[in-house]
Amino acid sequence: MTDLTTEMHAATTDASWDHETDVLVLGSGAAGLASAVVAAQEGFDCLVLEKTEYVGGTTAYSAGTCWIPDNPFQRAEGIDDDGIAAREYLDTLVGDRAPRELREAYLQHGPEMVTYMSRLGVRFWQSTTVVDYHPEIPGASSGGRALEPQPFDGRKLGKDHFRRVRPPVPEFALFGGSLMIRRAEVDQLLGVYRGSARSVALALKLGVRWALDRTRYPRGTRLTMGNALVANLYHQLTARRGAVWFNAATTELLTDRTGAVIGAVVAHQGRELRVRARRAVVLAGGGFPADPELRRRYLPHPVAQFTRAGEGSTGDTMRLAQSIGAAVGPSCDDNALWFPSSIGRRRDGTTVVFPHIWDRAKPGLVAVNSAGRRFVDESVSYHRFTRAMYDSEKSVPSIPTWLIVDSRYLAKYGLGMIYPHLPKALLTRHIKSGYLHSRNTIRELAITIGVDPGGLEQAVADNNAFSTTGVDAAFHKGESLFGKQYGDPQHSPNPNLGPIDNPPYYALAVVPTPLGTAIGLRTDTEARVVDTSGKPIVGLYACGNDATSVMGAEYPGAGCQVGAGMTFGYIATRHAAARNP
Ligand SMILES: Cc1cc2nc3c(=O)[nH]c(=O)nc-3n(C[C@H](O)[C@H](O)[C@H](O)COP(=O)(O)OP(=O)(O)OC[C@H]3O[C@@H](n4cnc5c(N)ncnc54)[C@H](O)[C@@H]3O)c2cc1C
Repeated sequence: MTDLTTEMHAATTDASWDHETDVLVLGSGAAGLASAVVAAQEGFDCLVLEKTEYVGGTTAYSAGTCWIPDNPFQRAEGIDDDGIAAREYLDTLVGDRAPRELREAYLQHGPEMVTYMSRLGVRFWQSTTVVDYHPEIPGASSGGRALEPQPFDGRKLGKDHFRRVRPPVPEFALFGGSLMIRRAEVDQLLGVYRGSARSVALALKLGVRWALDRTRYPRGTRLTMGNALVANLYHQLTARRGAVWFNAATTELLTDRTGAVIGAVVAHQGRELRVRARRAVVLAGGGFPADPELRRRYLPHPVAQFTRAGEGSTGDTMRLAQSIGAAVGPSCDDNALWFPSSIGRRRDGTTVVFPHIWDRAKPGLVAVNSAGRRFVDESVSYHRFTRAMYDSEKSVPSIPTWLIVDSRYLAKYGLGMIYPHLPKALLTRHIKSGYLHSRNTIRELAITIGVDPGGLEQAVADNNAFSTTGVDAAFHKGESLFGKQYGDPQHSPNPNLGPIDNPPYYALAVVPTPLGTAIGLRTDTEARVVDTSGKPIVGLYACGNDATSVMGAEYPGAGCQVGAGMTFGYIATRHAAARNP
């Protein structure tokens, strides 16, 4: 031990404490709140420090999907071999890019975590049709591993706590983020345009509830997706007398003579407070997707300039842990999970980072690089699509990538910020702002966006021929179960292939944006942070994106980040609860 560390330990062991708790959690996303709820449920004092004014982090923006193979729903249906299939799947997909024992811990404790949370009232529904992101790999599931949070009634929180739940992404809910709906309800509501009575009834039901809510609350209280998950966990925590300090910035982790973590120094309400953690400090700050410096250090080039993740996730927790000797890594090629996103502006001038999650799979769209050439099956998962952008960039400029559609596509399916059936005046606004480009011929469009005109004409001609035969001879779009799932089932002969021949034509730029980082603190199977010699740092845990992903920057299926975050949050607290402080 160096003189400097000895001095630091001496200075921290005779401390008088301003506040004491058993479990101190830094960060209030799914991982941190799961850890905190377990602590409170097991009868421990628990304090969550949240550096922003809201609970929820990126989780509150997310769909809240939780990927748990071999989950209780599957068991209830008599499917008892999913754990075996998932192991095979992950061994092939992840291999030695991440320690095998970590995914074993995930597979073993994930189902347990779901059962535990359900008993407390944090309930999920099974998404039976959500296909894993690599259906070509043996052991992939064609549905059943992804769990959707059940809608949560925000009124249960009371007005003050409700205001603390981070509002959703405005573009992902109606009325600028005020009325949340489930993903399944989007399609149902679109039936209003076809005059479907069921759709009208649903619209009325949701509308009336929302209008009543607005007389008492700043937004609708029927929460869905990640917002529902966060609000429910926050409700469970406060109901068990767990506390959250908002706008609380941790400036130092405190250790004792042995190097064990025993608390933190926290700047809160204008004071610097020494907070003792008798059992554990759990780091759950959500990684560093919002930190430009760490993005430059760890993510591939060209470095992403934007993210849809929460602004609080800037790697502070990783830096704090490193300052007491914690290890980071192991590093993978791209160290993040990705969305291709278009970048727009709201009327108030704020930036919109709009992830293109499902629209790329609809028939009548091609994605091209600066040569005007396609380079991928556009209907693959967002992570695979963005990786393909980086791959293509190695030989020809491909960032931004251009999504090309025609007017029929745009009206029917929408694209990014452009909703289906958008009135002409609003469409014109997007064109004037430069978000969307429009021309009457493919050649003019290519020239406008700086793409090779001959290349683009050829790509569109090929697409149109493929859409007649139903066979994408170049990239096999429509052959994968994953892509098919998000195409248009009414469209034949191939749900993902349609002609681009109805002018005007449109182009929209997409760039890589990390939805979460995959490199973080090195942890063991108990979620303990380890030091650079591989030894666990006593009293220090990390979960969610603060820990290096157990998937090694691979993306097996919808919900693997929230799923792993909650599972390791649960594991961390269970371990801390069992240790002798
Ligand atoms: C639009 C979108 C949709 C997504 N959908 C899904 C999905 O359905 N399923 C899925 O698995 N993944 C999804 N993801 C990714 C997923 O949301 C995140 O990876 C995950 O929620 C991260 O959880 P977390 O608990 O680690 O961090 P977060 O949810 O980001 O929470 C971290 C919290 O810690 C706070 N914090 C940071 N530093 C400190 C500090 N020093 N002290 C105190 N507090 C601190 C932050 O302010 C934040 O509130 C999506 C991402 C996006 C952007």
